[in-house]
Amino acid sequence: MDWEVVIGLETHVELATRTKIFCSCTTEFGGAPNTHCCPVCTGMPGTLPVMNKKVLEYAAKASLALNCEVTRYCKFDRKNYFYPDLPKAYQISQLYLPIGRNGKVPIKVGSEEKIIRIHELHMEEDAGKLVHDNWIDQTRADYNRCGVPLIEIVTEPDFRTADEVIAYLEKLRSTLEYLGVSDCKMQEGSLRCDVNLSVRPKGSDELGTRTEMKNLNSFKAIARAIRYEARRQQELIELDHKRVIQETRRWDDNKDASFSMRSKENAQDYRYFPEPDIPPMELSEAYLDELRANLPEMAEARQARYVRAFGLPEYDAGLLTGTRALSDFFEETVALGIAPKEAANWMMADLLRLLKEKGMEPKEMLFAPETLAAIIEMVSDGKLNRGTASKVFEAVFDNNGDPAAYVKDHGLEQINDTGLVESTVAEILAANPSQVIEYRGGKEKLFGFFVGQCMRALKGKADPKAVNEVLRRQLNG
Ligand code: ADP
Ligand code: MG
Ligand code: ZN
Repeated sequence: MDWEVVIGLETHVELATRTKIFCSCTTEFGGAPNTHCCPVCTGMPGTLPVMNKKVLEYAAKASLALNCEVTRYCKFDRKNYFYPDLPKAYQISQLYLPIGRNGKVPIKVGSEEKIIRIHELHMEEDAGKLVHDNWIDQTRADYNRCGVPLIEIVTEPDFRTADEVIAYLEKLRSTLEYLGVSDCKMQEGSLRCDVNLSVRPKGSDELGTRTEMKNLNSFKAIARAIRYEARRQQELIELDHKRVIQETRRWDDNKDASFSMRSKENAQDYRYFPEPDIPPMELSEAYLDELRANLPEMAEARQARYVRAFGLPEYDAGLLTGTRALSDFFEETVALGIAPKEAANWMMADLLRLLKEKGMEPKEMLFAPETLAAIIEMVSDGKLNRGTASKVFEAVFDNNGDPAAYVKDHGLEQINDTGLVESTVAEILAANPSQVIEYRGGKEKLFGFFVGQCMRALKGKADPKAVNEVLRRQLNG
């Protein structure tokens, strides 16, 4: 039989506010266990939560950017359950009136375009973390993450392939990063994704029974988990003549398999009720208008503009807009008077290579647009040759050092003394008479050898163009 895979995603995103959602503890990642806590976020009796306004702003912005209808009258609900990482034994979340509903996210896979519908976007608080120590056979609770603000974004079951899921997550990550509402670091758990998946015979419009997979912490793991689970369900039905059980499964990336965790709970199981400690919030139309008017230009729009206004190839524009930090860096460099194509070339060749080598994100670098502009200008002014400039770039990158000072201290200025170039070329030719004869006899490949020898003699500091010209003239003369 031909099967169709149906997938819906629930994505949790930690918001990049400085403080937690209902208290003033820091949201900073890590820290010694239980040092980012207070009586409110550890759920001590008698404490009261106070809503962080920034959380509301970020959630509203995200809703607008994902084309959701924003709920003007917005409130929280209490979701009751016990788990050792949740000291209050309830989570403050939104069930009845989520802040965003009926959104639309356009995605592109290859040349195919598709709209993924957002069912809802709601605000809630994160839980703590359990640290399992197998060595001493103990589990310890770290409540630092308790009360870190989250938005949960729930899609309709609109995905049919792993590629569509990845395209959506990339779009989501880029949108939230450009908005500045989250750093979306999967490796630190600030973007986490649950995959709901079912299969059905191709052509059917009924939904099959779904499972929900948790614990997916990279795009690669998500793609693998989808392929595994789709096959498991198909084989269960087709080969074993069994039914899929609605359950929550844990993905184990090392074993490349998913395992049953628990049967699926329903909303009733949580005995939701309106959160009595936080009053409802009303968002005025004026407030939303202001947020709407100040949404930043997103990656796609910037990419199109770079092609249109700067004449960059689509590919270059796509790379440069990969993250907002990189894109801002490019625009600031151009604003300093550097030709866009020149700035793009430097960033794609030298900057992206170094970031990759160092395993760094663009927003983590100290290196500034002014420094890149200074290096590029030294090259165009003939003070530095291109090859040496790359080395200077690398040397000043980490600490955003002064390239002019570095060049001076290391005697790297380009040799523009034509007399010196002439005499060096003459010396090299005199020292390699047999190669000169071979070259003149037609072995043109040797030209590169002569360039290399001359550049070495000039300590790499000559202008390669000048060396080429002089060599050609002397050899052919
Ligand atoms: P819950 O909140 O109990 O997890 P929801 O009904 O809100 O359940 O659905 C959660 C996610 O599961 C949504 O993204 C939805 O699109 C997806 N989903 C629901 N039914 C199916 C199904 N049969 N197959 C695949 N995905 C599904
Ligand atoms: Mg769910
Ligand atoms: Zn606190």
